[in-house]
Amino acid sequence: MNKTAAFLTLGCKVNSYETEAIRGMFEDSGYQVVDFKEIADIYVVNTCTVTNIADRKSRQMLHQARKRNPDAVIVAVGCYVQSAKEDLLKDSSVDLVVGNNKKSEIVELVEGYMAKNDISSNTVIDIGAAKDYEELSVASTMEKTRAFIKIQDGCNRFCSYCIIPYVRGRVRSRNEEDILEEITKLSKTGYKEIVLTGIHISSYGTDRLANTDDVYRLMPLASLIKAIGEIPGIERIRLGSLEPRIITEEFVKEIIGTTQFCPHFHLSLQSGSASVLKRMNRRYTPEEYEKKVRLLRKYFDNPAFTTDIIVGFPGETDKEFEETLEFVQRIGFSAIHVFKYSKRAGTKAAEMKDQIPEYIKHQRSNMLISAAKQMSKDYREMFVGRIEKVLIEEEESIDQRRYYIGHNERYLKLALEIGEGMDNLINRIITVRINKFLTDDILLCYRADS
Ligand code: SF4
Repeated sequence: MNKTAAFLTLGCKVNSYETEAIRGMFEDSGYQVVDFKEIADIYVVNTCTVTNIADRKSRQMLHQARKRNPDAVIVAVGCYVQSAKEDLLKDSSVDLVVGNNKKSEIVELVEGYMAKNDISSNTVIDIGAAKDYEELSVASTMEKTRAFIKIQDGCNRFCSYCIIPYVRGRVRSRNEEDILEEITKLSKTGYKEIVLTGIHISSYGTDRLANTDDVYRLMPLASLIKAIGEIPGIERIRLGSLEPRIITEEFVKEIIGTTQFCPHFHLSLQSGSASVLKRMNRRYTPEEYEKKVRLLRKYFDNPAFTTDIIVGFPGETDKEFEETLEFVQRIGFSAIHVFKYSKRAGTKAAEMKDQIPEYIKHQRSNMLISAAKQMSKDYREMFVGRIEKVLIEEEESIDQRRYYIGHNERYLKLALEIGEGMDNLINRIITVRINKFLTDDILLCYRADS
């Protein structure tokens, strides 16, 4: 009988993509994939180390796998391996550690381990010295209508709170041909929406430029978007988190002609206070950020802006927090992910004086979340009565009625009641008119194309 393998992902969309690729490699090598909750011969945990809590969770999942099957081969993969290799090697729950840029060799490494070969010197590299993008690819993803595609790895920014540059290394971009080939294949299997993702996608292609400032002239990300727009069957192109500096008039003019491009921008803000941004080592001011928002509003019809904000960064005063609160309201985000600052060992911010007490972080987080809720409602309200296109993703029951659920181009969640004898609409893009709020975060709509 074939050996069984189970997989678990912690952390971001890049990790999810990589786990899908790893799963595919095991399947191609004849392993039978089982659920992580089942007994398996091999457990692969793709770990995360973005916060101390993520470290803990990574360890917990590895221990859980060992408990489930004491005889299994337990493999720790990815970011937490890069930050805590020595600890993991001492952990009796872990048999094998595989670092970043080594994932494409994982089946070989696991089989080498099972054959009792000495592979110990070949599983974790000095990621800071890595120059090449590690090519991985997926044939399908967990989400059946929207595919997240990894286009680059690494980050050169070194924000003061972030450990990622230390565990993912410097910017390495994927070859455009490989990206296009993967998307073409996914499109042929029915995917309509593509989300470009990476550790710092604004840096896509910069590692291949002679001068990093050429990014503003040559705009590799914009060229990639245009090329994806040529692939038959791809009806939506969405971008993952962007740094505001990449938004220039030239960039916008390059992408605006690609009709599949979704006017939804996740522009990473982190704080609306200039002094906090400086301590974070972010390289823009709130004024610059606002300028980029204005520019995008000039070219796109009521685009959606989403963002991440950290509250309670070391030294954040009441006044600085107020500045953030005012700033976000001025922008009018459609959604904000609020994070309470959490110390990450090994970063500059963890060593900063004036760490903020938890109860203040909690208060600020609540204030920002309630402001964000109102903003989101105000933004959604503008769409009531409008004709929109929705990509139907799944069915859901709400108050005992059945609905098709999907998102429009601006990533607003829409529901369409399932009537008797209705066609199966999953993975179809249909035209609807938005009627009213069904819940706080879902808008009810009805078909407007028939
Ligand atoms: S841009 Fe800053 S926050 Fe984002 S991965 Fe790089 S260092 Fe971390």
